[in-house]
Amino acid sequence: MPKIKKLLVANRGEISLRIMRSAKEMGIQTVAVYSEADRLSPHVLFADEAVCLGPPPSSESYLLGEKIIEECKRLEVDAIHPGYGFLSENADFARKVVENDLIFVGPSPEAIEVMGSKLAAKQAVSKYDIPLVPGTEEAITDIELAKGKALEIGYPILIKASAGGGGKGMRVVESETDFEDQMNRAVSEATSSFGDGSVFIEKFITSPRHIEIQILGDSKGNIVHLFERECSIQRRHQKVIEEAPSAVVTPDMRNAMGEAAKKVALACNYQGAGTVEFIVDEKLNFYFLEMNTRLQVEHPVTEMITGKDLVKEQILIAEGKELSFLQEDLQINGHAVEVRVYAEDPQNNFLPDIGNLQTYQRPNGPGIRVDDGFEEGMQIPIYYDPMISKLITHAGTREEAIARMVRAIDGYQITGIKTTLDFCRFAILHEAFTSGNFDTKFVEKYFKPEFLNTDFTEEEKAVLTAISVGFLEKKKSNVATTVSNQKKESGWKKRLHG
Ligand code: ADP
Repeated sequence: MPKIKKLLVANRGEISLRIMRSAKEMGIQTVAVYSEADRLSPHVLFADEAVCLGPPPSSESYLLGEKIIEECKRLEVDAIHPGYGFLSENADFARKVVENDLIFVGPSPEAIEVMGSKLAAKQAVSKYDIPLVPGTEEAITDIELAKGKALEIGYPILIKASAGGGGKGMRVVESETDFEDQMNRAVSEATSSFGDGSVFIEKFITSPRHIEIQILGDSKGNIVHLFERECSIQRRHQKVIEEAPSAVVTPDMRNAMGEAAKKVALACNYQGAGTVEFIVDEKLNFYFLEMNTRLQVEHPVTEMITGKDLVKEQILIAEGKELSFLQEDLQINGHAVEVRVYAEDPQNNFLPDIGNLQTYQRPNGPGIRVDDGFEEGMQIPIYYDPMISKLITHAGTREEAIARMVRAIDGYQITGIKTTLDFCRFAILHEAFTSGNFDTKFVEKYFKPEFLNTDFTEEEKAVLTAISVGFLEKKKSNVATTVSNQKKESGWKKRLHG
């Protein structure tokens, strides 16, 4: 593969900018694409060249794969980075890119296809001794047969659409009486939403954590993992806070999860950066959920603790280079936390609060990273995901990274729209979060809009911060004890060794 000289980023906003920054540092020319709503976006201004794709709706701009390929030819681009969302996991697009003699900065269309279907993914990994949630590994249509399987697995169970994604297409069934009704609904929903009615059954894990492993694979067959990200703090199955490493993963568990993730990558001959998602139960047993065949939103926390630039690694792999490091060269350095800052109103059921960024001042200082794609005075468009930025802090320990996040949140000045910053502040200072003892139900269990009193004066805020940070300091020793007790009780060793 030749060296990439000109890269087009088929995306917008923060991720487009983040990718182009790395490309620029590698001496690669950058091309941005944009819709009419994003004409003055920082990603457009940063790029060496920029192409307008069309009107604001994604279907008339960022999703126009053929048009993007045509523009690449016209501008003599030699590679496309799809970012996340939009065309990033579209196997047909990846195939067309390659057929047009362009480099796709990502895995092969075949790998995207296999991992894009939950059932195909389960089948692909079945030969590799990877723990799967107890359930069926094939599409199930016969109600009686399905009922029998559900009884075998034991209620509660989850009916999942094979083609589902983004947390959609799942139904929990508590008991046999509801089964038939829920199964019929699941099939008809899957048919109408995804054009594929195949569903399967899984054991429903009642108190799950979502922990994922970052992997990198090159074209020479080398695969490494870059440890885990804890992504259990979610709202409607969408991640809101992520951290690395996880407070409950021990070196042995990390190693076992890392090895399982590498096998998943091997099962689909994976090249590039990818993420293997696991669901973890109360006893810290982990099970393969799915693989995301792209750069993840939350990749910065991994970059902070490993010192690796994942976008640069993606580009080098796409150029056919061998990974320049081995598994044993990788180390975890400190702790990183990321919060997703959304233009949403947490006091009003997180409804998008679109408008003008009247004030927009980023926090700064040691260990703070802001990945964003807006400037003061800009309008947040209604056409896309309302994420304003990702705020990331890195420090020597988890407690320090959390305290640093409080400082960063308090230093972030945004007016003109409502944001989720106060909600994030509430979440990271909650005892369940600081103790590390939480699951994916955190928000529904602990959050009430009235907990966010936004009427504090600056002075009151300062006092509250001092109290919370002092509280964290005191908690340090307690955290270590809680987590180690949890591990002792959980019997994770038993699973690993037996
Ligand atoms: P999607 O492709 O829609 O993101 P996933 O399979 O990744 O679907 O699951 C999304 C979320 O749903 C997980 O992060 C987890 O919170 C929950 N989930 C998935 N499978 C189970 C299960 N078997 N038991 C309990 N919760 C689950």
